[in-house]
Amino acid sequence: MRVRFWGTRGSIAKPGPATVRYGGNTACVEVRSEGGALIVLDCGTGAHALGHALAAQPGPRRGHILITHTHWDHIQGFPFFAPLFLAGDEWDVYAPRGLRESLRETLAGQMQYTYFPVTLDQFAATVRYHDLVEGEFTVGDVRVTTRYLNHPALTLGYRLEADGATVVYATDHEPHSRALAHGHAAELAGEDRRHVDFLAGAELVIHDAQYTAAEYATKVGWGHSTVQSVVNMAAAAGARRLALFHHDPHRDDSAMDVVVAAARRAAGERVDVFAAAEGQVIDAVGSAGARREPAAPAVAAECPVPAELLAQSVLVAVGEPALRHRLSDAGHADGLTLVVAKDPDETLSLVRAAPPSLLLLGRWLAGRDGLEVCRAIRTAAPELPIVMVATREADADRAAGAAAGVTDWLVAPFSTLYARTRIRAWALRQACRWVCAPLPADEAERLRALREAQLLDTPPEERFDRLTRLARRAFDVPLALVTLVDAERQWFKSHAGIDTDQTPREAAFCAYTIHGDEPFVVPDAQLDPRFADNPMVAGGPRIRFYAGHPVRLGGQRIGTLCLGDQRPRDLTEADRLMLRDLALLVEQELGLPSR
Ligand SMILES: [Zn+2]
Ligand SMILES: [Zn+2]
Repeated sequence: MRVRFWGTRGSIAKPGPATVRYGGNTACVEVRSEGGALIVLDCGTGAHALGHALAAQPGPRRGHILITHTHWDHIQGFPFFAPLFLAGDEWDVYAPRGLRESLRETLAGQMQYTYFPVTLDQFAATVRYHDLVEGEFTVGDVRVTTRYLNHPALTLGYRLEADGATVVYATDHEPHSRALAHGHAAELAGEDRRHVDFLAGAELVIHDAQYTAAEYATKVGWGHSTVQSVVNMAAAAGARRLALFHHDPHRDDSAMDVVVAAARRAAGERVDVFAAAEGQVIDAVGSAGARREPAAPAVAAECPVPAELLAQSVLVAVGEPALRHRLSDAGHADGLTLVVAKDPDETLSLVRAAPPSLLLLGRWLAGRDGLEVCRAIRTAAPELPIVMVATREADADRAAGAAAGVTDWLVAPFSTLYARTRIRAWALRQACRWVCAPLPADEAERLRALREAQLLDTPPEERFDRLTRLARRAFDVPLALVTLVDAERQWFKSHAGIDTDQTPREAAFCAYTIHGDEPFVVPDAQLDPRFADNPMVAGGPRIRFYAGHPVRLGGQRIGTLCLGDQRPRDLTEADRLMLRDLALLVEQELGLPSR
């Protein structure tokens, strides 16, 4: 991919002699893949010069504009982007789905007669608008993964993968951890960990780095990163190059030089740091090894949301920040209106004043027992679905919950995807046909045995691949796996018939299989209330049939040998015996040193 910077400044355009080297125009980056896909990242004032350069070339053009969010510094160049006025051109415009307005309505807003002489309807090019949520889609030969960033507006980062290289564009983002933002070498956890995963292995990371750690104290909550935190995150992600981006309008070229020099010292050998400069061109040439498989099964970023869902509001009264963020992300992904309450009193008065369609209530809230709070709210709102959110299984006392009027429970750990599926179902008052397997009683010992085996994240081995090949052939199924069920994921020691090497544990059929010593069989997942809405069934590999047999090591069921098919089917008694035999062969290999 070839990357060219047309605008690098944040907040407001600042052209002039003091910014001539790093640039004065606001965010706009051009990316072209070897396959010819043309992507424009953001349409700040830099889009004006890009538009003229494109219009000067023979057309018609076909391009894709990916907007992170609709703050002015990211869309002000849109009405001045010349190709939109050229008949025959085709442009697809993407941005996060807003809470109330569609992307087209938001962009039309800044082109109303009061502000601008030409309206959106006067574009001569064919322009299509796409509202995005978190997920994946493709643009020509480029695979695009989106992720919500931490910013006062609903903002998406874009990870572009093509030609064996990865470029990540993550601007207007503040670290969740204050310590991290201040530039301390803080441990990466929760959403910050996930953000680093989003940058993982990139050839080039283009990242918001508006402030220095020294300036940050007065900028907390403004939705921007510090140079020091970005260096640490890019290094932790194993990124090769880091382009500091969204330069503060107060910083002139010589001040930028100082910032870059300090960033280079902080980065050392870990990552190659520079500050993006207007006009600069970078070729992101990757090694195939840099390609990262998604941790979650692919979810379409252009996700249709039922219209009746958009009218719903959700009240979030959860004290724990990481859980509250995840629930908010999940609600935003479906365009729900979210209201946050910080304590029991506020929760109760909001329920009384403007009844929400769903209440997500923390098991503990501002020091008070959530069950008590639930009882109080139940009296005021007998019909309201109240979902109790607990940080761990031990806190989820379901009998006491039922007595207090709790409708359902959501227990951490859970992913945004899982929370989203559940929230959608509660808000629409539908049954959610996706139920995570409970943790086995001996989970701690089980995980210990798994860790001691030292098999997680090891390279593929022929001795296991041989067995999954045999299983595929013997059962005539497209999918056979040797899986290891880890704390929050299942990881595949051998995977025949599927590209990915892990899935979240909550989506894993095998999380059920490790509960017993018998084969666990799901003849038709679409008919099974535990699996029908599971992303592995509703999307991804579209599993219909599953059969797994646990495999033991040190007396613990650390994983499975399993089969999958896109057709519904069942196992005969003879099949079950053969599956057991193969599982025993896997166990034998697990007990031997790798060779
Ligand atoms: Zn901005
Ligand atoms: Zn912004």
